[in-house]
Amino acid sequence: MILPILKYGAPALRNMSKSVDSFTHDLEEIAKNMIETMYSSPGIGLAASQIGINIRLATIDLTVGEDESQRIIICNPEIVSAEGEQRSDEGCLSIPDFSDSVTRPLRMVVRGLNLHGEEVQYETEGLLAKCFSHEIDHLNGVLFIDRLSPLKRSLIRNKIKKLTKAGDW
Ligand SMILES: [Zn+2]
Repeated sequence: MILPILKYGAPALRNMSKSVDSFTHDLEEIAKNMIETMYSSPGIGLAASQIGINIRLATIDLTVGEDESQRIIICNPEIVSAEGEQRSDEGCLSIPDFSDSVTRPLRMVVRGLNLHGEEVQYETEGLLAKCFSHEIDHLNGVLFIDRLSPLKRSLIRNKIKKLTKAGDW
């Protein structure tokens, strides 16, 4: 089922999400819906907070469904190590039509659990590292605009305020 994605301003995007501690059929359903929602957007990553569920669950697929083997569903992701820096343009499905340059780690080792509660580990680099960093931020209530300079952040905020007033957000 394709679900509506919450936009900037929705409180759930700012909450600290809770760890997943039971690996139920419901959890699988949420993940399945997140994958469908992510593909339909289309996007390469989605955090459960973006569909209004504050649990530490994220989906990532750099191929947007082209290659099923690249599909990642991770619960309780933790950064084991991070090194280097990369800076590139970044957007977010919850802040549509805005993008800006964000600095992220170049490489990260990320550990977490799959939908069966089994430990998984990903050695990421480049776009995948950037995506994991962005999604883990979501689970902590952080958005990419928080990583911009105060000036750039307030410019985007003001534009969103205007769109909201006009009923276009
Ligand atoms: Zn995002």
